[in-house]
Parts: sequence; C-alpha cells; structure tokens
Amino acid sequence: MRRGVAGNGSAISNPKAAAWNELGGAYWNLDYDGGPSAADCAMYLRGVAPDEPVLLVGASTVRLARAALKRRAALTVADFSSVMLDELRRVLDGRARYLWTDVTCGDVLPRAAFQTVMGDRLINRFTLTEMRAALTRLTLALRPEGQLRLSYRLGLYDRDLPVLEEARRRGQLDDVFDEKAFDVDYGGAGAWLASVLSPHGRIPTDKLVAFYVRRGREHRIRDGDLDAIIQEIGRAQRLRLTTAHAGMDGKPNDRMLIVTRVGRD
Ligand code: SAM
Repeated sequence: MRRGVAGNGSAISNPKAAAWNELGGAYWNLDYDGGPSAADCAMYLRGVAPDEPVLLVGASTVRLARAALKRRAALTVADFSSVMLDELRRVLDGRARYLWTDVTCGDVLPRAAFQTVMGDRLINRFTLTEMRAALTRLTLALRPEGQLRLSYRLGLYDRDLPVLEEARRRGQLDDVFDEKAFDVDYGGAGAWLASVLSPHGRIPTDKLVAFYVRRGREHRIRDGDLDAIIQEIGRAQRLRLTTAHAGMDGKPNDRMLIVTRVGRD
C-alpha cells in the first residue's frame, strides 16, 4: 500500500493505466489545457455544501480538485494511475483522500457514500464494456439523492478526423476505427500518428504519441448510448435513476451526463 493512498492499486492490470503513468503531470504542467474551465467547475460543483462527500475520478483534473477543496467539500480522488495520484497529492498538499483503483473493475469504491461523483470526459476514455462497468460502480457509490456529473464529448473528437483520414489514405482504416462499434484505437497508428497530431502545449511529440497509442480502444459516444446503459443499470441494481444531459459552456459537442439516484435505500 502507498502511504496516504487507499485502494487495490498494486493489483491493477488495465494496460491503459500505463499511458497515464507515462504522461504524469506533463498533462497539466506543459501548457496543455485539458479542461475543465472555470464555468465547467462551477457546473460540477453546483449546490455542493461544505463537508459534503464528493468523489472525483481522475487525478489529472487538478482544477476541479482545487475548486472542490475551495468549497470545503470532503473530497476523495480516485485514479488507476499511481503517478497521477502522487502528482496531485503533491500539488494539493494532501488535503484530499486518495483511492488508487480502476473504476472499471474490482470492489473498492465505497457504496452509497457520495453525494456527488464527478469525472471530466472520463467516460470518453472507455470502451462500451468499460463504460457499463464503471457507470455501475459509480452509480452504486452514490448515496440516495446523490448525483453523477460526468462530462463527455458526443461523437468523434476533432483530432480523430485527420487520424481517420490518414488511416484511410494508407488503406489502414480498420486498424484505427471500428465503424460498427464506433470505437477508435490510436494503437494502430503509432508509426505515423506524429504526422497528424496537433501540438498539445509543450508536451513532446514522442511522449504524446506513446500516450495516445497506449490509451488503446475508446468508444465514441452516440446519442442514446448512455441512456441505454443507465436504464440497464437501474433494472439490474433495482435503483430508480433519472438521467439528464446538460449543454456545456462554449463547447457545442460536450455534454454533462447527470444521473440522480432517486429515493431512499
Ligand atoms: N479531461 C480530463 C482531465 O482534465 O483530466 C482527462 C480525462 S480523464 C478524467 C483522465 C484521468 O482519469 C487520468 O488521471 C487517468 O489516470 C484517470 N482514469 C482513466 N481511466 C480510469 C479508470 N478506469 N479508473 C480510474 N482512473 C482512470
């Protein structure tokens, strides 16, 4: 067990964790703006009262962690990357609780414990199978009347377009895009990805390419995907869940999935 960090991190076998371990604090230290904006942070934290238990999944989301602490929320940050957790702990002076765990598997998240569970484009990092698994665990972590607040990008990312175009030109589209599943996987583009990626602040290109390649397969979210999953979870777990999709300031293709766990236990 790492000092000051709970969880089952040493058992993590998800290869995607290595991508984030390799990148570490370069994600926020080298002038790359991975979000969220101040307006987004206000949206995540609307109504959060001092001492309220809040779970943030994603230690890379430093601005939101800071904003939650500024509100004096009782913040827990979960992440499957030990490096991201360590880097965040350094900048927050240990003022939060830390859980080293993969939210797509295992049984580490406490049940019915949090009023708000937040993740900034976390669900875009998942395959559909991972999304179902993570959303089940995150929903079960809500206390009654608690809310999931998870932003997501709808459809393909802008950066996907030149990657898919170059793959098509090379006759390698199937290596990076599963059109039926609507999944992308930059793992198939490692040899030429550098030629089509736009700069991310001052993150060195080789580091960036390794990061995207290691992140592997990700589902691109279509209308209805998330509602179907939440309905499935409600039925399987016998929970009353309501779902809303809020627009996000200045980002036409971004939404916030808001799931409320209705009623008592
Ligand atoms: N826009 C986001 C930001 O500002 O940080 C990036 C997306 S996501 C929240 C990235 C963070 O989630 C990283 O710190 C990564 O290690 C973490 N993460 C990704 N998949 C995870 C999983 N299955 N379990 C726990 N943490 C995960």
